[in-house]
Amino acid sequence: MDVREYEPKSSLVSPQHPKTRAKYPFIDVHNHPRFPMQAEQARKMLADMDGLNMRIMGSLFVRGGNNERLKSAIDSAQQLAPGRIFFFASPDYSGLDDPGYAQKAAAQLEKDVKLGARGLKVWKDLGLNIKDAKGERIHIDDARFDPLWAMCGRLKVPVFIHTADPKQFWEPIDKNNERWLELQEMPGRRRDPAKDPSWEQLITEQHNVFRKHKNTIFIDAHLGWLGGDLGRLGKLMDECPNVYTEIGAVLAELGRQPRYAREWFIKHQDRVVFGKDTWAPTEYYSYFQVLETADDYFPYYRRRHAFWAMYGLDLPDEVLKKLYYRNALRIIPGLDATGFPK
Ligand SMILES: [Zn+2]
Repeated sequence: MDVREYEPKSSLVSPQHPKTRAKYPFIDVHNHPRFPMQAEQARKMLADMDGLNMRIMGSLFVRGGNNERLKSAIDSAQQLAPGRIFFFASPDYSGLDDPGYAQKAAAQLEKDVKLGARGLKVWKDLGLNIKDAKGERIHIDDARFDPLWAMCGRLKVPVFIHTADPKQFWEPIDKNNERWLELQEMPGRRRDPAKDPSWEQLITEQHNVFRKHKNTIFIDAHLGWLGGDLGRLGKLMDECPNVYTEIGAVLAELGRQPRYAREWFIKHQDRVVFGKDTWAPTEYYSYFQVLETADDYFPYYRRRHAFWAMYGLDLPDEVLKKLYYRNALRIIPGLDATGFPK
């Protein structure tokens, strides 16, 4: 047998409270449903959302500065799923070397928000792949984006920002790498320290932006890839009251440290929003069990993220409500608040 196949079934017998539905209605701020959508597909998605108790889902797919596409997506969602879907726009990186780029990018965002975008989505290509005409990497904290970040603050729309990737992707693929299996299955995720900017460099550039633009709300996606160092993330959030975070695809980091993560959630309860990042209804069950129960040692849905089992955080109801909907309703403008408990 190859180590890749090793998957021992737990023989532990202990009280378990698996969940198929969240305790409160919730908002998934980090997903990627593609609109325009076929009516049949939308009906199925809404039925699945209802089953999970998901009221609203964010669609962060719309690429750079394309008003036509943004508008057709918003119109389609308005028709097929009124009040259930919101959209974030993303920056257009073309023309980065033009002297007027900074103003143009800010003006584009203003137009996107007028059309109905509720925020700005910035993906990891900024920092890793976006280059200027000379082939130089554009840093995340490059001053040419300052007017764009400032515009988000002025319009009171959040910036949802995903920077870099799990730190283990930069580390040697050896027996000590916690993401060894993932790097075997998806070798393209490996980062080359000789060519790519370092993980620490990217994270530092991102934090520089947070510090420089205190009037703009940033949602640092995937726990800012600091789920394995919540103390550092908490310190950043203490220093920058404009920084929020989100738990998409990093549940396994929380589920392996239930006591500290619970304490951390209670301390930062006003600053974390719910996200998942991929639409697979049954995978949400693990999220509910980790967040809501005090169960011990139960399986997680994706082996390449974690070879360990989960433990429940047993979050207090008030903290759950903030994570599930209150924080998102407060920082994302224009969401329909009906149907959420007080
Ligand atoms: Zn995503």
